[in-house]
Amino acid sequence: MKVVVVGYGPGGAAAALAARMFSPKADVTVVTEETRDAHQKPGASMALEFPDTEALRIADWSPEALRKKRVDVLLGTTVTGIDRESKTVKIEGPKGKKTLKYDKLILATGGVPKVPKIPGSTLPGVFTIQDMSDTSEIGKKLDGMSKIAVVGAGFSGLETAERLMHLGKEVHMIVRSRFMRRQLEEPMSSELRARVPRSIHIHAESSPDSIEGASKVEAILVNGERLEVDAVLFMTGVAPNTELAESLGLEIGSLGGVSVNETMQTSDPDIYAVGDCVEMADPLSGKPMLLPVGSVAARAGRQAGVSSVGGKKVYGDTMLRLQYDRIFDTDIVCVGHSSTTSKSVGIDSTVQYFEDPTEFTKAALVVDQKGRLIGGQVIAPRMGARLGYEILERVETGAVLKEKPLLKPRHERLKEHLENTFGPIR
Ligand SMILES: Cc1cc2nc3c(=O)[nH]c(=O)nc-3n(C[C@H](O)[C@H](O)[C@H](O)COP(=O)(O)OP(=O)(O)OC[C@H]3O[C@@H](n4cnc5c(N)ncnc54)[C@H](O)[C@@H]3O)c2cc1C
Repeated sequence: MKVVVVGYGPGGAAAALAARMFSPKADVTVVTEETRDAHQKPGASMALEFPDTEALRIADWSPEALRKKRVDVLLGTTVTGIDRESKTVKIEGPKGKKTLKYDKLILATGGVPKVPKIPGSTLPGVFTIQDMSDTSEIGKKLDGMSKIAVVGAGFSGLETAERLMHLGKEVHMIVRSRFMRRQLEEPMSSELRARVPRSIHIHAESSPDSIEGASKVEAILVNGERLEVDAVLFMTGVAPNTELAESLGLEIGSLGGVSVNETMQTSDPDIYAVGDCVEMADPLSGKPMLLPVGSVAARAGRQAGVSSVGGKKVYGDTMLRLQYDRIFDTDIVCVGHSSTTSKSVGIDSTVQYFEDPTEFTKAALVVDQKGRLIGGQVIAPRMGARLGYEILERVETGAVLKEKPLLKPRHERLKEHLENTFGPIR
C-alpha cells in the first residue's frame, strides 16, 4: 500500500504518522514545498499545549522523527500534477523531476492568506504570514521599520502584534469589529482587549480603505484617518487552497473548501483531504463549516491517515476546535462552538459566564437547548488551560452542564472549607 501525503503542516504530518502507526507495512511519503521542519509552523506548537489530548501523540513532526518511523519526507518539493487514472503524482524538487505512484493520496495543502482588494494592497511593505519562511523573511525586512499596522485581531493577529511590540515597534491594530469576534463572546473579547498594553494603538470597528505610498508603504487610511506606517501585515485569515483538488475535478463545497465525508474522503474514494483546504460537516448540525485551526487539521489528519490504510474507526472529535494561546501574559482558551459559530450553523445557544475573582479568571460557557455544553472560552492570567481542559472534557462527552458542573471557583471552595471548619461566615 503506497500512501502519498501532499503537505507538511499539522494535517499532513498527522495523516502520515497515523497511516504509518495503523499500517506498519504501508509505504508513506510526505511531499512539501516547505524547506523547514513542520515543528516550526505557528499552528504546530498548538498541539503541545494540551498534554492530555490526542494531539501530543502526533506532536513530534520533525523530518528526523518521521523518517525514524519510516515516513519519507521530501522537503522543498512541489507537486506539479496528479493523474487519477494512473494514480501518479508528478513532483519537482532538489533531486529534479520524479513520478510517485499512490494507492491512496492525502491532500493537506492548507490555506491561502486573504488580503482585501483595496488600493495599495500590492505595494512593497504589505505582508501576510503563512509559514516560518515568510516570518523570518518579513522579520529581516521589518528590521529598519518602526511603525507597523496589523490588520485583524484573531489569534495570529494578536500574536503578531505582541511580537512586534516586543521588538519595540509602534503597533497599530486595525480591528473590523472586536477581538476574536468568531471565537469569543463580546464580554470575553472586551476582557481580552482590557489586557492589551496601552502602547498598542487599537483602531476598533475599523477597516482599511487604502494603503498609500509612492514605491512602498507610507501610510494606511482607516475609516478616513491617515496613519503613517512603514508596513502593513494582513492577518485576516485564510481561504482553502483548493488548487490541486480543483485541477483533479474533486467536489468543492458551498464554502469553497474540498468536500469530505466523516472519514475525510473526497469525491474520489482514493483521495482524502484534511486541514485548512477542506470544509467539514459540523457534527451537531450537519451544516458545512470551515475551521482553519491547527488542532482540527491534526485530528482530521489522524482520521484520514487511519482510514486511508483501511482503518474503520470514525473519530467523533475531528471537528472539535481546541485553541490555546498565551498572548499579552494572558491565557486564552477556546473550545468548541462560540455563540457566533453555533448561530452560523443554525444552533440556538445561551451563554453562561463564570468568574473567579481570586484568580482574575473569566470563562464563558456555551450551552445548547438540551443543556449540553457545546463550547467554552477562558481568559486568565495563568492556568487557563486547567479550566479549558475541564470544558473540553465536557464538550467531548456531550455532557449536560447541570449534571456535570465545572469545578467551583477557588474563592467559593475556600469559603466552603472555612465554613465547614469554623461555621458560617457572614
Ligand atoms: C501566523 C499564524 C499563527 C497561527 N496560530 C495558530 C494557533 O495558535 N493555533 C492554531 O490552532 N492554529 C494557528 N494557526 C493556523 C494553523 O497554522 C493552520 O490551521 C494549520 O497550519 C493548517 O494545517 P494544514 O495541515 O491544513 O496546512 P498548512 O499548515 O497550511 O500546510 C500546508 C502544506 O501544504 C504544502 N503544499 C501546498 N501546495 C503544495 C504543492 N503543490 N506541492 C507541495 N506542497 C504543497 C505546503 O508546503 C505546506 O506544507 C496559525 C496560522 C498562522 C499563519
